[in-house]
Amino acid sequence: MKKTLIAANWKSNKTKNEARNWIFEVSRQEFPDNLEIVILPPFTLLDFLDSFIKANNLKFKLGAQDISPFGLGAYTGEVNASQVKEFASYVLIGHSERRKNFSESDEQINQKIQQAESLDLIPIVCVSDVSQLEDLKSEKEMVIAYEPPGAISTSGPGAKAEDPDSVLEFVRKIKEKNPARVIYGGSVGADNVKDYTGLDNIEGVLVGGKSLDAESFINLVNNAT
Ligand code: PEP
Repeated sequence: MKKTLIAANWKSNKTKNEARNWIFEVSRQEFPDNLEIVILPPFTLLDFLDSFIKANNLKFKLGAQDISPFGLGAYTGEVNASQVKEFASYVLIGHSERRKNFSESDEQINQKIQQAESLDLIPIVCVSDVSQLEDLKSEKEMVIAYEPPGAISTSGPGAKAEDPDSVLEFVRKIKEKNPARVIYGGSVGADNVKDYTGLDNIEGVLVGGKSLDAESFINLVNNAT
C-alpha cells in the first residue's frame, strides 16, 4: 500500500517533559494505516522517543534533523550516521534554515547523503529550486522535500503556503530528474494539508510549526487523507 508521509520537524524545540506530553497525547489517537508518520525531534529526544515508541508498540518512525558529513572520530559537536541509526530510520538533510544559518553547501549536503546512505538511513533532502537537484548524488532510496523558503511559516511576515498548482509544477520537474518520493513543506496545517496530499505525484508533507502542538498535529493528520 502506498503511504502518505507526514514528517514532523520540531526544529530546536521541546524539552523531554514537553516531548513526553506530546507523545502521550498523540499516541492516544488511532491514525489510518495509509499514513507513515515520522517525528524529527532534536537529537536529545531521539533515545527517549525511540524507547517510548517501542515500549508502546506505536507505528511512528523517527528521524534526525541533521547528520555529520563525517563518520565517527574527532569532529567535536557532530552526531554521526551510526549514532543516529541507533534510534532513527530517516534523516533531514539540507533544510533551508541550515543552508542559510549554517552556510551548508551542496557539497556538504552530498557528503551527508552519503553518510546517511552508508547506514541505510533514508535522507529527506530539502530543496527550494530545481538547480539544487543537479548535483544531488544518491544511490539509494531518498525523499525530496520541496520547500520554497518564503512558504516556511517562520520565514517572515509575508510567509504563506505555496499555491498547490505551483507545487505540482515543481514536483513534475523534480520527477523528471529524480525517481525519489517527493513531499511538500511550508505552512501546512489541518486546514490546507489535503490541498497537497490530495495531489497526484505528491507523497506527503513536511510540517514545522503545526507539528509542535499535539492537538494541531492530530487535526492535521486526521485531515491528511
Ligand atoms: C519547515 O521548516 O520544514 C516547515 C515546513 O515549517 P512550517 O510548517 O512551519 O512552515
